Amino acid sequence: MKIAVLSGKGGTGKTMVSVNLSAVAKKAFYIDCDVEEPNGYLFFKPASVVSDKVEIKLPVVDENLCIGCRKCINFCKFNALAYVGNKLRIFEEICHSCGGCVLFCPERALSVKYKTIGYVQKGVSENVSVMTGILNPGESSGVPIIKKLLKDDIQDPIISFIDCPPGSACVVMESIKDADYCILVAEPSLFGAHNLAMVYDLVKMFGKPHGVILNKYLNGNNPSEEFCLKNGINILGKIPFDNELGLLNSNGLIAVRESEKYKRIFSSLLTKVIKEAQHETVINS
Ligand code: SF4
Ligand code: SF4
Repeated sequence: MKIAVLSGKGGTGKTMVSVNLSAVAKKAFYIDCDVEEPNGYLFFKPASVVSDKVEIKLPVVDENLCIGCRKCINFCKFNALAYVGNKLRIFEEICHSCGGCVLFCPERALSVKYKTIGYVQKGVSENVSVMTGILNPGESSGVPIIKKLLKDDIQDPIISFIDCPPGSACVVMESIKDADYCILVAEPSLFGAHNLAMVYDLVKMFGKPHGVILNKYLNGNNPSEEFCLKNGINILGKIPFDNELGLLNSNGLIAVRESEKYKRIFSSLLTKVIKEAQHETVINS
């Protein structure tokens, strides 16, 4: 069962929720798809880490063979090619590595080169297999890294928690594409409700079963809670605003491994999430 954990912006507690739910499970995969700023491994401090590079294919032109026919340019749907000053220019940042231009060139002037854009690391922390994607600085898209993370040996029926990138861009879509259930983490503010609305639209668009965890919960006015009630969104749980949790987090510690209280809170949250996800899977199958 694959559970994606997402939020409209960083700092809402998305990593804290996915790390603690993974740690409280009997056996789990934690998959950090926040490839621009992965930080789950800082909590898990995994052992036996193995690293594997992620490469993309890019076209490269042999100027001696190119006759400037522009067939490759007309083929490229992403406008990654242009003919400027009698030379074919290749804009690597917007190339989607489809390989079409290489096949299309009648002069065989285009060939393929490989470029490393980042890494996938795998390690173990007690009951959790920790998988982390790392995008090299300056690279434009983490999608190939996320694809590799989610295609790798994730075994069912072990539960997997996918810690998604913040926001609702294509990297988030890639991260939730195959998820069975989505947890939306929301903060108790107007801005929090606005961000919740963004990811709510996304999971609705993908037709994914979902529920909300209200983080930093305080009694009183909570625009995110109001948004859930107004839209009939299932509230999976409320994690109270608590200095103890804040302190554990800021010290890079996993709350459920340090505190009986948090072990209880996240165990019951996990039970609820699994029940909901199974219920939704049965309904949608
Ligand atoms: S299709 Fe080949 S020959 Fe034509 S412009 Fe492109 S690289 Fe040059
Ligand atoms: S590989 Fe595909 S996306 Fe990249 S330049 Fe060629 S046709 Fe365009």
